[in-house]
Amino acid sequence: MYSKYHKALCSTNKVYRCLCNGLVTDGSTPGATAPAGTGMPPKDARVVICGGGVMGASVAYHLGKLGWGKETVLIEQNRIGGGTTWHASGLIGVFKPSLSQVKLTKSSVDLYKELENKGLSTGWKQCGSLNIARTKDRMIVFKRMKAQSVSWEIDCEILTPEQCKEKCSLLRIDDIIGGLWIPGDGVGDPYETCLSIISEAKNMGVRVIEGCGVKKIDQIDKRVSGVDTSLGYIKL
Ligand SMILES: Cc1cc2nc3c(=O)[nH]c(=O)nc-3n(C[C@H](O)[C@H](O)[C@H](O)COP(=O)(O)OP(=O)(O)OC[C@H]3O[C@@H](n4cnc5c(N)ncnc54)[C@H](O)[C@@H]3O)c2cc1C
Repeated sequence: MYSKYHKALCSTNKVYRCLCNGLVTDGSTPGATAPAGTGMPPKDARVVICGGGVMGASVAYHLGKLGWGKETVLIEQNRIGGGTTWHASGLIGVFKPSLSQVKLTKSSVDLYKELENKGLSTGWKQCGSLNIARTKDRMIVFKRMKAQSVSWEIDCEILTPEQCKEKCSLLRIDDIIGGLWIPGDGVGDPYETCLSIISEAKNMGVRVIEGCGVKKIDQIDKRVSGVDTSLGYIKL
């Protein structure tokens, strides 16, 4: 989700400071052609990350945490956070199909809280989520989730229609059977989160190159030996 603040700046085409690369850019939309002069990729690296969406940013951040920052380079063909990340609604629900995904989401939420405490914006707001059942089958799904939540250590609660209305007074409840309330869920701003994570990764030494496309990945004996980019070759 692109912040309203950012959008307003872009629409007025004012110059603004881009947190992700520390450069003054022209305020064009993130998906547009990247500005020139965001630096050249290094001649060699230990890790090359292709793509500066929230996933690439997260990989960069965690490699930085492991002490690999100075040997890691992230290559983004346009602007950081300007891909799918820019379009996301920012709903963060901890209930996922597998325990490993649940753990990943929980650790992401912990990271958002940590970044917010440092003054870095993620837009994280723990507002909880209310899931509504209009059919018996859907209610059975919620009851199964409630049972599963015990071993996965997810706080959640089965609600009656009246209790659903207490959570959200706008609801009409004459055609609902019940609901599932997950208080730990929330919302965030994917674009701001991406920029904040990238900023932290850069502080740990990760090089971030915008306006640079990965063209080809070379391998020797099934190991990546080099990455050809539009701004030069990186040997691994
Ligand atoms: C409408 C919508 C709503 C969504 N809502 C939610 C939600 O509420 N909650 C949620 O959790 N998820 C949501 N998602 C999903 C979420 O947005 C994605 O899972 C997430 O943004 C993916 O991040 P990514 O880094 O993998 O991809 P991207 O953000 O797309 O990043 C990939 C980057 O790679 C770059 N790239 C591609 N090819 C190259 C190349 N050859 N060289 C260099 N760079 C390259 C692209 O320019 C891009 O910036 C939503 C998605 C959409 C579309």
